[in-house]
Amino acid sequence: MSETNTKTSPAVILDAAIIGAGFSGLYMLHRLRSMGYDCRVYDSAGGVGGTWYWNRYPGCGSDIESLEYSYSFSEELQQEWKWSRRYASQVELEQYANHVADRFDLRKDIQLDTRIASVVWHDEDERWHLTLACGQKVIARFCVMATGLLSSPKPVNIKGYENFKGEVLHTSRWPKDAPDFTNKRVGMIGTGSSAVQSIPFIAQEAGHLTVFQRTPNYSVPLNNGPLDPEYEARVKGMYPEWRQKQMNSFGGYVSVNFQPVEGNPLKAMEVTPAEREAEYELRWKSGGLAFYTSFGDLLFDREANETLAEFFRAKIRPRIKDPDLAKKLIPDDYPILTKRLCADTGYFETYNRDNVTLIDVKETPITEITEQGVRIGDAEHKLDTLVFATGFDAITGILTNMDIRGRGGLTMKEAWSEGPRTYAGLMTNGFPNMLMINGAGSCTGFFNPILNVEYQGNWFADMLAMMDREGYSTVESTAEADDEWTRHMAEVAAPTLFWQSENWFIGANVPGKPRVMMLYLGGFGAYKQYTADVAAHAYKGFAFSSTAVNKDHMPAK
Ligand code: NAP
Repeated sequence: MSETNTKTSPAVILDAAIIGAGFSGLYMLHRLRSMGYDCRVYDSAGGVGGTWYWNRYPGCGSDIESLEYSYSFSEELQQEWKWSRRYASQVELEQYANHVADRFDLRKDIQLDTRIASVVWHDEDERWHLTLACGQKVIARFCVMATGLLSSPKPVNIKGYENFKGEVLHTSRWPKDAPDFTNKRVGMIGTGSSAVQSIPFIAQEAGHLTVFQRTPNYSVPLNNGPLDPEYEARVKGMYPEWRQKQMNSFGGYVSVNFQPVEGNPLKAMEVTPAEREAEYELRWKSGGLAFYTSFGDLLFDREANETLAEFFRAKIRPRIKDPDLAKKLIPDDYPILTKRLCADTGYFETYNRDNVTLIDVKETPITEITEQGVRIGDAEHKLDTLVFATGFDAITGILTNMDIRGRGGLTMKEAWSEGPRTYAGLMTNGFPNMLMINGAGSCTGFFNPILNVEYQGNWFADMLAMMDREGYSTVESTAEADDEWTRHMAEVAAPTLFWQSENWFIGANVPGKPRVMMLYLGGFGAYKQYTADVAAHAYKGFAFSSTAVNKDHMPAK
């Protein structure tokens, strides 16, 4: 890294400024550095890990198996790292992120506890000018948005939120010093994945836990446990092949009952009820998310979807002793899989405990949060601690809430006011040299994010190498290319059932957010083919320029 004087203050000069020290940022630093680029990662967190730094609530972990939810770029890394559990906890994932940072000597180029105040494109020098909250200026040829899909917590919009005098916690910003719930009256607002994971643990500790549920969720037992050494050895013995299967699958994970299982091309309505049941049983026994690939029509045909929803209802019902409570906890009015499927460890059984109460706030919404608790109509639920598991301004929020200004001062908020517009989730017109990883328009959200990081990172690396060979200084997706991809995404999403629930994939969880499918639903295979085709045709849809005012800082070859 070198420093130079600008009129106002000395600026850090970089080839690439990378925003985010999660799995995306770590890989991009490693990859771009290997090309001789001078890079620096900035993150507001106090440690690396991104999602797995912030979300440290009890019970937090991944619901993709650890052997699959991990980097594949280094055979040594994937052989040497030992996961203790079939599904890794947040603790282990954070340790893994730290191990990667050390193993590849990344830390010296990572600046933590650093908030970005603004990111502004300057046509004069064809550079991104970043201002850090501390006032430090950074000037970079490329800006890499490794900012994550679920990193901007949804602001709580419940009346009286600021009045509560007890302890306030958010699952997405959990304190490092674990809160003590002993003998406390704890309230939890939300019943999405974060709540489903944390409720069983909080209930064990709290004096009393009151869960305020607006929409019940479908959930499958995770069936977590110690990682079987024989299974680990088998996967590690064929890792490249296993990874290939992951990369060729819809979701980027293939393990079903410890075997790599391809997505089922059959339709649920084409097979007999007994065959359907057998397929569902296989995946239920396995645990986790494998239902997304159990049949090809589940996300398109409500009747097919209902077969799986009914299967889940029948499985969940016996887990809850009180039939009235079961009625409230079992979803019956929206298609399964359209809100992201939850995977749990004793979630429904937790409601059988004497110290747990469920309050349905769909029928009678929360009136307000008071100094002492939550008021619903005339009833006030008095609480010592209030936990918000209310979700995220997902996918776009992190970028539209940041002060990002592209060509001609166009802000990201303006550019995406009707929903994100990207070219294959890689770039967006008006924001030259801004590379997006695991963001809007990509498959992530439906595809294993770590493998997508590697794919998109490598794709960008090839494009940047071409630019350096050809002497191009800038790249930008054209408005027509953005239009084409945005139209294609909408066409693929239109016939799906996602429009029949209030899910974050379409922005429906945030009041006022445009209702568009923000992720690519065509599958990773189609995505790879599309992006490989773009590259093979001289990066069609991207406009390159070689008018660099400042060509003196090309990376070392
Ligand atoms: P979420 O799925 O968006 O759930 C938010 C919950 O808060 C919902 O139950 C929602 O109810 C409720 N809520 C929001 N605002 C409310 C209000 N004003 N009044 C009452 N209830 C309100 O958020 P999340 O649980 O944090 O999960 C987000 C995503 O993160 C997941 O879908 C998943 O992709 C990821 N995640 C993954 C894991 C994992 O790997 N295992 C764990 C946690 C999270 P409505 O449904 O009615 O809006």
